[in-house]
Amino acid sequence: MPAAIVPIPSFVPKVMTVPTVTPLSELHADIDRRVATLRSEHADWPCAKGCDTCCRRLADVPRLTASEWGLLREGLAALPAPRRAGFRAAVARLADTPERPLTCPFLDPVSGACSVYAYRPVACRTYGFYADRDGGLYCHDIEARVDDGRLAGVVWGNHAAVLTRLARTGETRPLTEWYADWHET
Ligand code: SF4
Repeated sequence: MPAAIVPIPSFVPKVMTVPTVTPLSELHADIDRRVATLRSEHADWPCAKGCDTCCRRLADVPRLTASEWGLLREGLAALPAPRRAGFRAAVARLADTPERPLTCPFLDPVSGACSVYAYRPVACRTYGFYADRDGGLYCHDIEARVDDGRLAGVVWGNHAAVLTRLARTGETRPLTEWYADWHET
């Protein structure tokens, strides 16, 4: 009796998708490491989901580099059309709002969460964790903790170094201008 012929399954190679490393993604990774370290050393660090104070107190219309805008636009493009339209209208209103501070158009007012968290600009990632040489910890809550000694010994992230690296990620323009030139399909 002849041996049974067992078909050999054809080999289908898997396509590996390797995340693209860019100057912006490297900067994000470094910021993430710094933030994780600070959080691990201070379990009660105030910057966390639910605290949206800084998102409600923008000094001006956010300015983004071309790379930051590219990332944010990617996140926005993945949203349903009605949400995109809502954000577009909210951003347009920023241009006509003389009062300061501003509330970020991407802040979910109900949950206090960022609607574009994974795609948010660098300023949102560093706020509260980075400082300039001359001080400027920005958030009054954090400054109060510094003043009363609860954050003694913290090695803050270097804000000036972040700005230098960020400047290499493309032209910087206000969010309203990037949006005005974005013709969604
Ligand atoms: S983009 Fe997100 S994290 Fe940044 S200010 Fe707006 S709501 Fe806050």
